[in-house]
Amino acid sequence: RALRIVVVGSVAAGTSAAAKARRNTESARITVYERDHDISYSGCGLPYFVGGEVESVDRLTPRDPAWFAARYGVEVRTGHEVVAVDAAARTVTVREPTTGRTFEDDYDELVLATGVRPVVPPIDGIDAPGVFPVRTPSDARAIDAWITERGARRALVVGAGYIGLEMTEQLTSRGLEVTVVETAEHAMPRMDPDMSARVDAELRRHGVDLRLSTTVAGVRADDDGVTGADLQGRDGTADQVAADLVIASVGVRPNTELARQAGAELGPTGAIAVDRRQRTSVEHVWAVGDVAESFHVVTGDPVWVPLGSTANKTGRIAGDAMTGGTLEHRGILGTSVVRVFDLGVAQTGLTEQQAGAAGYDVEVLHNIKPDRPEYLGGRPLVIKAVADRASGRLLGAQAIGASGADKRIDILATAITFGADVADLFHLDLAYSPTYATTKDPVHYTGMALT
Ligand code: FAD
Repeated sequence: RALRIVVVGSVAAGTSAAAKARRNTESARITVYERDHDISYSGCGLPYFVGGEVESVDRLTPRDPAWFAARYGVEVRTGHEVVAVDAAARTVTVREPTTGRTFEDDYDELVLATGVRPVVPPIDGIDAPGVFPVRTPSDARAIDAWITERGARRALVVGAGYIGLEMTEQLTSRGLEVTVVETAEHAMPRMDPDMSARVDAELRRHGVDLRLSTTVAGVRADDDGVTGADLQGRDGTADQVAADLVIASVGVRPNTELARQAGAELGPTGAIAVDRRQRTSVEHVWAVGDVAESFHVVTGDPVWVPLGSTANKTGRIAGDAMTGGTLEHRGILGTSVVRVFDLGVAQTGLTEQQAGAAGYDVEVLHNIKPDRPEYLGGRPLVIKAVADRASGRLLGAQAIGASGADKRIDILATAITFGADVADLFHLDLAYSPTYATTKDPVHYTGMALT
């Protein structure tokens, strides 16, 4: 009989797995169950809908079940939650929350692409109307409607990771006054402090009220919803801010319930442990995307950095592997880039702090060079690279600048992936025109730092 593939979750990873499986085999019967309504959307675009750069949320959800049926012969069933897995019998139990109907389906291969859920911080008042996570198109629609209907003027963003900062930028450009509260000492706390301090300055330059080393002790609300919050500084100071809406962006947790129920092991990061083909510890059960653990290209250690780039890749790898392909995951560097007002803020590989914690004798290489000649508008690009002093091997890099940080971090990520030494960077044959770069590129200067 035809191979029977069941996928749970239909955003980035689940749809990638289904599409790749179909490309490899015409005969498989493939069903994707999704408990939500929207599928295959760009979660990464949601802040830009709230800010108005993307005119309609429909632009972020271009595909529906009919498209998948016509294009791939894949059945996508929205409004269907998988509530149980019986790995011995190879069946799943599916529930339709709208009708309460429950039924069983069987599988030969089961793909868990159940993603993450936003952390709800344990704060008084966090469930008040006007407090929003940012994860799904429904969240973005709700935030947009709340701002419009309430004429909201002041926003409080809790958490200064990349999603919090994207929302901060977009709410500011929509005309709201924004306060950002962050427990750590700097915004973008995954970066080294000397780099993230530049992000702090950029936020403040754009009028953001940035409260560092501060926590939200409670959200205040009246009958109409949120009115503000009580803040608590690490130094013991207490304060209050007024707010018409609150964005809770304090991180995410993997949806591992089904995996645990199926008996699949979780890794040390708390996400589902998988091998290089995305197989879990349970036969015929695969895990892909944000719910799955990965491993670090440099250290080989288990890591969990939930990103859409990795979700698409790991979905494709599982879809290939379960249909006879040979794709294997080669690990991640956690490469990421975010625009924060006028700055591109990018990183890849180990930070100085992480490299030190991993036991390397760390060499730090810093340079600030214009990304293009100043006569064509070049502006300073700060690159911080970290290397292993003993071998010279590049371990990680961070780049911040008005333009060109994205390109340089991708060059450096590529170099790290292929095991480059710092000195190798000087020898890269990179494109030069004064409209795009300098004759010696900022990446070349990083490579010249030790010679
Ligand atoms: P998810 O997108 O979490 O999808 C999982 C799906 O599974 C959900 O729809 C859920 O309803 C469904 N599901 C869960 N359990 C069940 C069940 N039991 N039954 C049925 N269905 C179930 N990444 C980047 O690389 N770059 C960016 O710039 C970037 N920006 C982002 C900005 C925002 C605001 C957000 C929210 C995310 C951003 N990301 C970015 C991250 C990226 O969106 C995620 O990595 C990606 O969506 C992960 O895809 P996934 O399919 O693994 O999981």
